[in-house]
Amino acid sequence: MPETYHPKRRDYPLSALNDTMRLVRIRCRYCKRQHCYRPADLIQIFGDVDVDSLMDRMTCENGRDHGRLDVEAFAPAGREAVGLRIRRLVGIKINRVPVWKDDPA
Ligand SMILES: [Zn+2]
Repeated sequence: MPETYHPKRRDYPLSALNDTMRLVRIRCRYCKRQHCYRPADLIQIFGDVDVDSLMDRMTCENGRDHGRLDVEAFAPAGREAVGLRIRRLVGIKINRVPVWKDDPA
């Protein structure tokens, strides 16, 4: 009797998109905003993570309470590729949070 084999859901790392010149489209269902990102930029922030996991890692720039975002990998082609605006990473700001403690008297 043949062994049944359930392949593990294949992770799709961002680097796989880079290799095939694809982009990532992130859409907010709440405010209907969408942006296109280069996988290389997203790797700088999140590492070479699974594309679908960005749903939980990214938040809408208009509000953190907008819920999960739609994530879609796509290859720009034809009319869509012309004048496609890509949101580029210009820098990563690191939040400095002060931590205080009273000296013992
Ligand atoms: Zn939103």
